[in-house]
Amino acid sequence: MGTFSVVETFVSINGEGSHAGELALFLRFQGCNLACSFCDTKWANTDTVPTEQRTVEQLVQLAQQEGVHNITLTGGEPLLQPDIAELITALCALGYHVEIETNGSVPLAPFTSLAFRPSFTMDYKLSCSGMESHMLPENFACLTMNDSVKFVVGSRSDLERAVEVVTEHGLTARCPVYFSPVFGSIQPAEIVDFMKERNLNRVRLQLQLHKYIWDPQKRGV
Ligand code: SF4
Repeated sequence: MGTFSVVETFVSINGEGSHAGELALFLRFQGCNLACSFCDTKWANTDTVPTEQRTVEQLVQLAQQEGVHNITLTGGEPLLQPDIAELITALCALGYHVEIETNGSVPLAPFTSLAFRPSFTMDYKLSCSGMESHMLPENFACLTMNDSVKFVVGSRSDLERAVEVVTEHGLTARCPVYFSPVFGSIQPAEIVDFMKERNLNRVRLQLQLHKYIWDPQKRGV
C-alpha cells in the first residue's frame, strides 16, 4: 500500500474551483516541480519541511473522522506523489468529491481513465509566474464541465495572454474558466474592467477567498 508525504491536513473552505466556499478537507502534500514567482506554499515544497508519512488507509480514516464531503488534494503538486492514483480511487469509491489542485505541468490523461474520476482544478501559469513554458496545453483535452482551469494573472499582459489561450483552445466550451489575481500584484477591479472591455461572457473572476478572510500568510486555512 502506498504512503504519502503529507505536510498538513485541515478542514476549511475551498478557496477556488466550482466548489469554492464549501467546506473541504485539505490534504497538502510535499513537493513541487515548479518554482512560481508568487508561490505562497514554498515552505511545503522544500526537502526539509517536516512531513508525516501517511498510508491510504490512514488518510481514508481521517476523511471518515472529519465527515466532510469535499476532499481537496493540494500541494505543492499532489500528482507527483507516486501512489496518488490509489488514494484518489479509494476516496472516490467511498463517495467523496475529490478535487485535485494541479499546476498544469503534469499530464492528466493517466488520471482520467481511473475507475473513479476526480475533479481537476488546473492552473495555467502565465508569464508573471516564470513557469509558462512548463504548461501542457494537451491537458485541456482531458477536461470536462466537472473540472476547471484557473489562469493566475499578475498583470495586463497576463490577461491578454490568458484570452489568447482560452480562445485558441475553445476552453469556455469545455469547462469553467476562472481568472484569479496574484494577490497584491493586480487589483480584482482591473480584471473586471478587462473582462468588460473584452466582453468575456463565459469567464469568471475568482478571488482566493482565504486571502481575504484570514491573514494572507496564515497557514492551515
Ligand atoms: S505550482 Fe503551485 S506550489 Fe508549485 S511553485 Fe507554483 S504556486 Fe507553488
